[in-house]
Amino acid sequence: MVVVGAGITGLAAAHELITAEPNLEVVVLDAASRAGGKILTTEFAGRMVDEGADQFLVRQPEMAQLCREVGLEDRLVTPQALGASLLVDGELRRFPPGLMLGVPTDIDGLAASNLVSDAAIAHLRETPNRQPTPLDPNDDPSVAELVRRELGDEVLDRLIGPLLGGVHAGDTERLSVRCAAPQIAAAAAAPEGLLAGAQAQVAAAAGRAPAPVFNGLVGGTSAAVQALVAELGHRLFLQTPVHQVRIDAAVGEQASGTQAHPVVVEHQGGITRARGVVMAAPTGPAATALAETAPTASELLAAIGYTSVVLVTFAFAESSVGHQLDGTGFLVPQDQIKLLKACSWLSRKFSHLSDGGVIARASAGSRLAPGAIDLPDDELSQQLLDELTPVMKITEAPTEVRITRWHQGLPQFDPGHLDRVAAIRRSVADAGPITIAGAGLEGLGLPTCVRQGRAAAAELHSRLQEKPR
Ligand SMILES: Cc1cc2nc3c(=O)[nH]c(=O)nc-3n(C[C@H](O)[C@H](O)[C@H](O)COP(=O)(O)OP(=O)(O)OC[C@H]3O[C@@H](n4cnc5c(N)ncnc54)[C@H](O)[C@@H]3O)c2cc1C
Repeated sequence: MVVVGAGITGLAAAHELITAEPNLEVVVLDAASRAGGKILTTEFAGRMVDEGADQFLVRQPEMAQLCREVGLEDRLVTPQALGASLLVDGELRRFPPGLMLGVPTDIDGLAASNLVSDAAIAHLRETPNRQPTPLDPNDDPSVAELVRRELGDEVLDRLIGPLLGGVHAGDTERLSVRCAAPQIAAAAAAPEGLLAGAQAQVAAAAGRAPAPVFNGLVGGTSAAVQALVAELGHRLFLQTPVHQVRIDAAVGEQASGTQAHPVVVEHQGGITRARGVVMAAPTGPAATALAETAPTASELLAAIGYTSVVLVTFAFAESSVGHQLDGTGFLVPQDQIKLLKACSWLSRKFSHLSDGGVIARASAGSRLAPGAIDLPDDELSQQLLDELTPVMKITEAPTEVRITRWHQGLPQFDPGHLDRVAAIRRSVADAGPITIAGAGLEGLGLPTCVRQGRAAAAELHSRLQEKPR
């Protein structure tokens, strides 16, 4: 079996195959010189600090479960539940309690937060008196369209936009609610409408034992990659980009009863024949590799856009930051963004990063500001520092600065995305023993990637088990 791509999706797929059948010959091919894809942890200011993903949802348990399976149970940690703020007119205002992906379920709390106007609060209080329009099961509006219609402009601009637009570096006007925010889509399908649906979800959760929202890993998210790579051993081949995945029709036809390897994987340095392939590369390279074999899938994959983001991580002496950093960081609403889009106070967020001064990770760039990544290093770090200085009351220069550019780092999910993903999967399945998974398909969060990778591997494995070998 060949897995293309050693990001978390491909590594999870390989883990699934190895676990299902320990003697199965599995080969993982990746174009880069390291495994992990968008996951990278490096040393910074004396600590292991993530350059990409640093936490994952617990409600979707697949990533935490995978960590446990590879022996990282003791390294799972919960980020401090300190809450975050929004930067409005140069001032940090705390997000209120009771947000469900930004949907306010506690209107009194929202009123006290000073984040939206009295008129917006009055509009929300009137919501139960308006005729609800539950989300049709066949409808996939943009996040902006749905939220504006159900909850008004200010909830979009001050709550859901910064939170969801931030995670996706996207444009909520062009962001599929079903793919990017399935919880909001589920709440919006409630007969009483989005607000009541979200309130019911939050009330149901309140009845359960309190559970952390996120987990992180001591040593950084790369600890999971390292454990999965160690499990793979000599089965991982780096600097081996896959150019094409073809079905050898002749072998396919005479395969019955023989040890068939009908898939031909053309990669740098040669050809590998496989019984089946899990494609776990980003959608662009996947489109190229499948152009001949699954042209419909290839065309749809090629149309999925990505956006670039850049992170600048600063270390400061504790004494040079005047703000008390009473949270995990802050976001900037779209209408107030100059360059800085968000800042995560990593040394506050994770207690294992707290010793040795402040670490603040600033981010810039989105679908609405795609040029941020192209700014020269000096300009980028200086402008972000200039924007952070009055907010965090910084009095001295940073002791360390690190710039991480993620070119084409985040897939963008336009409305209707999941229907196109279903068509991609059909086209790939029709082509032969190939399955496909990854952030660009069903969602970019680590648990979703792990779920997809494992499901793609399990599906391929069971399909091949059914056939005579
Ligand atoms: C800055 C940033 C912060 C993030 N923060 C979070 C977070 O806090 N929590 C969270 O849950 N998610 C977060 N994410 C999202 C998450 O990290 C990614 O969605 C996820 O890691 C993607 O995994 P993947 O394996 O699907 O794709 P990738 O990580 O992109 O892996 C794909 C792999 O395929 C390889 N490849 C490419 N072309 C070829 C080819 N032709 N042949 C072979 N191999 C190829 C690449 O080298 C790469 O290793 C963040 C993402 C970014 C960029």
